[in-house]
Amino acid sequence: MSHHRRVYLDNNSTTPILPEVVESMRECHLSGVGNPASAHFAGREARQLLEHSRDRILEILNGQASLQADRLVFTSGGTEANNLALRGFTSGRQGRVIISKVEHPSVLGTADYLARAGYDVQRVGVTSHGVVDLEHLNGLLNESTVLVSLMMANNETGVIQPLREVAKLCAKKQIALHTDGVQAVGKIRVDFRNLGASALSFSAHKFHGPPGIGGLLVRHGMAVRPILFGGFQQDGIRPGTENVPIVVGMCRALEIWDANRTKLERQLTGLRDAFESRLQNSDDPLAIVNGSGTTRLPHTSSISFPGIDRQVLLLALDRAGIACSAGSACASGSSEPSHVLQAMGCDEAVVTGAIRVSFGRQNRLEEVIWAADRILLSVRELKRKCLFQDRP
Ligand code: PLP
Repeated sequence: MSHHRRVYLDNNSTTPILPEVVESMRECHLSGVGNPASAHFAGREARQLLEHSRDRILEILNGQASLQADRLVFTSGGTEANNLALRGFTSGRQGRVIISKVEHPSVLGTADYLARAGYDVQRVGVTSHGVVDLEHLNGLLNESTVLVSLMMANNETGVIQPLREVAKLCAKKQIALHTDGVQAVGKIRVDFRNLGASALSFSAHKFHGPPGIGGLLVRHGMAVRPILFGGFQQDGIRPGTENVPIVVGMCRALEIWDANRTKLERQLTGLRDAFESRLQNSDDPLAIVNGSGTTRLPHTSSISFPGIDRQVLLLALDRAGIACSAGSACASGSSEPSHVLQAMGCDEAVVTGAIRVSFGRQNRLEEVIWAADRILLSVRELKRKCLFQDRP
């Protein structure tokens, strides 16, 4: 091996935790923090930490903190928050549930579960840019619709959905709207109150916080039923002893993002644009940026090399010291084609040849450019091999 360089470009799978976040959790663990449900001093101190974190997170996401306060339910992450939203808002009711075709598997899978339980689940399509078809969606909203769940931004392409427009459509018919904000929170400004959504999911390990913690922010007055039972914590909506140190870590990570957000957004956009133009300025091979015709997250590139098999390319890149992915982490390792690119109507070769490259605050321009050049080299090598193999 000629080099031992490693470049991590799979930040949509997970981001490296910040040292300051580890430190805040360490301090909390070592302070002898109690169970926030206990009435004694150790419990009261734990509750104080927990409620302070809750208030800060609400504030940063612009939830309503006092008077008709919105509710922040801590969960084990994005998957649980999405499950809680889809099941908790529909429980005890029957009717239609609308999601999009490009949702994360945690929403798709929960919607499948609801369909098996007798709900009328409708999956709305997207345009070739990956944006939800608003007309189709509006046409699907009927009297019996109990919930719409539409992601804020896609984890494979980074495409940002027109949520405010969707919220207006839903509000007209008084239909609850949940949004999976897992890839958006801690990356772009999320203003919960002005968005008009009923609930928002997020997850700390996507914004340089600890894994295993996230939340569902629920608008004041919206009833969400539990999916776990047997305790009184978090008003019985999510029973179980709250994990105070990890909540403190999530809060710290979000605060650090908030304090630097303009700078970070500029940094990530800069990395992404430099990466994409490096790939596209080379005539050979052809590189297609999926979703490039619309507004995207600053840190996500879905790149297709038609004629290349993404699994083979990913293996070659791993050997070369570049970590990126085939789509969502849940789908990587398997050879399932991207449901997101399929829903966008991409050609089969574009779907087969698509990799996802996602940036984080730790990435440097120089390593990103190096990675782009290395990817081009690998693609050319693979193409040459194919030509060679095709020869009789
Ligand atoms: N929703 C989206 C859009 C995601 O990208 C992810 C993470 O892969 C999730 C939900 C699930 O979040 P978690 O890993 O915290 O369960």
